[in-house]
Amino acid sequence: MKTASIVAAAGFVTCALCYKPLVSSKKLQNLVTLEDLLAGSQDLQDIADANGGNRAFGGGGHNATVDYLVKTLEELDYYDVSTQQFVELFSAATVDFTAAGTEYSAGYMTYSPSGQASGSLIQVNNLGCIVADFPAAVSGNIAFISRGECTFAQKALAAKSAGALAAIVYNNVPGTLSGTLGGVGDYPPTVGVSKEIGDTLLAAIAAGTVAATLDVNAIQENRTTWNVIAETKGGDHSNVLALGGHTDSVFAGPGINDDGSGTIGILTIAKALTKFKVKNAVRFLFWSAEEFGKLGSFHYLRTLNGTISGNASEVAKIRAYLNFDMIASPNYVLGIYDGDGSAFNFSGPPGSGTIEKDFELFYESKGFPHVPALFTMRSDYAAFLENGIPSGGLFTGAEVLKTEEEAELFGGEAGVALDENYHQPGDTVDNLNHEAFLLNTQSIANSVAKYALSFEGIPAVNSTLRKRHAHVQRHFGHLSARGDYGHSHVHHGPCGESAVVA
Ligand SMILES: [Zn+2]
Repeated sequence: MKTASIVAAAGFVTCALCYKPLVSSKKLQNLVTLEDLLAGSQDLQDIADANGGNRAFGGGGHNATVDYLVKTLEELDYYDVSTQQFVELFSAATVDFTAAGTEYSAGYMTYSPSGQASGSLIQVNNLGCIVADFPAAVSGNIAFISRGECTFAQKALAAKSAGALAAIVYNNVPGTLSGTLGGVGDYPPTVGVSKEIGDTLLAAIAAGTVAATLDVNAIQENRTTWNVIAETKGGDHSNVLALGGHTDSVFAGPGINDDGSGTIGILTIAKALTKFKVKNAVRFLFWSAEEFGKLGSFHYLRTLNGTISGNASEVAKIRAYLNFDMIASPNYVLGIYDGDGSAFNFSGPPGSGTIEKDFELFYESKGFPHVPALFTMRSDYAAFLENGIPSGGLFTGAEVLKTEEEAELFGGEAGVALDENYHQPGDTVDNLNHEAFLLNTQSIANSVAKYALSFEGIPAVNSTLRKRHAHVQRHFGHLSARGDYGHSHVHHGPCGESAVVA
């Protein structure tokens, strides 16, 4: 038998044998402090700093993040903690791009091969989706192609067929551009640049020949990685509240808002919850390889729905899923996923509207505004939506610019990205918004306390999921064609949506 209590590293007292009250929203919220949130974020920053500045999956920074989570959760002595191992292809690169004597920032297109190219920058006609769009001068030079209409892979293949040494895609909307070619193929070195750089270089090309060099230094290797899963020992394990965030960063930076904030937010809730009893089991899910196409969450759902092994009944035990991917953006909005579809005409499975409404009520009760966030399928909730599980969550914004209306509601700067450090080296512990981080983590506490007691208003999962998947594909085929994304991540999920399409 254990003694009554031990003091864990983070200062939370676990108390295996003594009396614990049932969880309540107020009490759980009261245990969330900014100091703990920032201390946890600093831990992730330290891990990144000690591992080459990133926490990309399969690398030292991510593996250390996984170890940190497992150790922290096990010490709480309140959860059954496990890891789920899987192997995925890792692809990343450093990119150097110079044109007309100036160095420009360029984003890697995942799966682009390494290579060096030097030649003239040649503007491609139309959108570069077919070889006929490429002028003869492209041969032996570098193709400069507008984003739009077709996939980056199509543009890259057409450039290669036209004899280009490399392909550079410039954005057709404000902001930087990176993405994925969707898999290994016979591509030339391919990168993306912002619309601003695109405009500058198009003007230079119009004025005369522009000499350019591109150097892509890519890594492609199979990497072993792990999801981390922690479920309360107590509570009804057939009626589970799941919540998750992703533990990996992009290769370019430490990922402290994306998604250190979600990781530390839910870890803080996991610590606080140990003071209480729950009626429904609560499962914390820390996803690996989100930045490479939500690989960890889709792998996990395939193990629950019988695709890999076992049977689909495991899916139905998850009564709700809450996703937290970027909850402390420096120029934030308080975004709540549009579960009922009232804002974007794209709803989650039945019950998702209740989850949205509960988040809304939290902010309203504290006198804060909120805005709906579209389920773009560009974070880990996608795997849950596809499996018919009621879902929701919070999102404070990525590369999208803040509107005037949003600046009036939330303060901050209109015309500036909600997180200007998104997928950049500047996504550090110093650039988190403290007010949003604390408030959103309290909001998580509120929802966790509620659903740990009851799923009233959230119907059980039924198995209409295959139809749902088809619906999702149609919906996002449509959005892709318009290039119309509210959210942020570079993904090539099983739906084929996202930044594979220009
Ligand atoms: Zn993210």
